[in-house]
Amino acid sequence: MSEGPAKKEDRRKFQAIKGVRDILPPASALWNRVEQAARDVFESYNFADIRLPIFEDTALFSRSIGLETDIVMKETFTFDDKPPDLPRPNSFTDPEDYTAAIEHALKTDQIPHTAENQIILDGLKYHLSDLRNAIEKSDFEAEETARAKWTASANDLRFGQPLTLRPEATASVCRAYIEHGMHTLPGNVKLYYIGPMFRRERPQKGRYRQFYQIGAEVLGPSDAPAIDAELIEMLVAFFDRAGLAQTHLFVNSIGCKDCRPKYVDLLRAELQKVKDKLGPDSQRRIDTNPLRVLDSKLPEEQPIIEKLPRIADHLCDACKQHFAALKDELALRGIAYEINWRLVRGLDYYTRTTFEVTAAGLGSQNAVCGGGRYDGLVELLGGPPTKGIGFAIGTDRVILALEDAGKGQPKPRVDVFLAWMGAAAYAPAVSLARRLRREGFAVELPPEEMKFKKSLGLADKLGAAFALILGEDEVASGQLTLKRLSDGSQQKLAEPELLAYLKSNLRDTRA
Ligand code: ATP
Ligand code: MG
Repeated sequence: MSEGPAKKEDRRKFQAIKGVRDILPPASALWNRVEQAARDVFESYNFADIRLPIFEDTALFSRSIGLETDIVMKETFTFDDKPPDLPRPNSFTDPEDYTAAIEHALKTDQIPHTAENQIILDGLKYHLSDLRNAIEKSDFEAEETARAKWTASANDLRFGQPLTLRPEATASVCRAYIEHGMHTLPGNVKLYYIGPMFRRERPQKGRYRQFYQIGAEVLGPSDAPAIDAELIEMLVAFFDRAGLAQTHLFVNSIGCKDCRPKYVDLLRAELQKVKDKLGPDSQRRIDTNPLRVLDSKLPEEQPIIEKLPRIADHLCDACKQHFAALKDELALRGIAYEINWRLVRGLDYYTRTTFEVTAAGLGSQNAVCGGGRYDGLVELLGGPPTKGIGFAIGTDRVILALEDAGKGQPKPRVDVFLAWMGAAAYAPAVSLARRLRREGFAVELPPEEMKFKKSLGLADKLGAAFALILGEDEVASGQLTLKRLSDGSQQKLAEPELLAYLKSNLRDTRA
């Protein structure tokens, strides 16, 4: 319930929080155009829309994306679901009863049965037996220690399920694929999604905390290189349809579970030799994620990285063949690309084909799409053996690049401003507006009577293509005055001619 008007000193202005933006008209029209381009192109390749939840079980992301990745380590927004009606222990709590209650709650899933909670329960039992012993021996000091340890452990329990705002959607697609038994569907399952993602990053141009992705995934029994190539062809077709020129496609293969670990070991050994010359980030990554060192943009590290062993020389035969076949398939489709041996991607689950698209006009945040193959992911999440490949386009950056290229100017939105004058013209204006809208025209109908000059002035400010003048004379004669606002020319038309005229004259401005 509203608390009524706030006292003046209580009034505060609310603002969207840092890293999160409103997308306002007219920019939102460009967003819609870009998203529609994706729908049209993807559906022509027989991909179907999947709508996914915005938050998921935290473990879904830590398992799939990987614990050692930047995303999971520091970028996720995680919170506990509302806990059930279990009190936290206090000085009146009986540890025996409480421990038993927790055990029961875990068993019956009243509180989440996570590995962490199980470990805590084991600890509670351990401290409880210490407590019993101390009581038996009347050792008050030991009793107090055991009780304190038990209480501390009990307070570590997580009552609500840990949930995370999705930082990406591939994990959710795989979860849905498994949950709904999509592996029984015929052929490969081809899905696309459009929606917001959340990462706690330092906000800057092209990098936000709520940002948007348009993604596509192919899941199923086959890992034929033609799938990879067709997916990339579709991506290129999308950028084309969206009107984004000056994109650059980079492709690489990062091997599979057979050959990549050996390469990573070799890379780690070579990195150890040059450790002193690397910056702190890269030094840390030697242990946690050495492939990510190849991603470094630090100028002083570049000559060192250039001399490191390259994965292409260490692929197993099957991966080599897959990569060679992918190149043939890309050539067959006339797709221009560049091999970038340093393209490794930040997520743990990628195998073999990886690719990235960059665009001009974005400064250092110039990647507009990342993608790759993830053949083991569905199995890792508890599903049947499944091959997979997908990409995610950063919509915010696509929009920025389009605006930078001067393609952000949306076409006028109002087709017809219906300038009615005089009480007798109002009812006919309302019904004419409805008929025009039913024909697909965007019509603005002033809700209150306006003076002629003011009315046309507003039509002009709204960027209307035409003003349709409907006064008492027009109503009587059935002849409407149509004024083209770009040059002021006007003519009188009856309604059927008017519709035909608008149709043929607005086609080019509305395309
Ligand atoms: P980057 O190296 O720029 O951080 P990434 O490797 O983290 O990108 P992916 O996880 O591959 O990005 O996501 C695919 C695309 O999503 C990126 O190429 C980019 O266009 C977009 N993207 C990722 N993070 C953000 C963000 N915080 N704000 C806006 N767009 C983003
Ligand atoms: Mg990132």
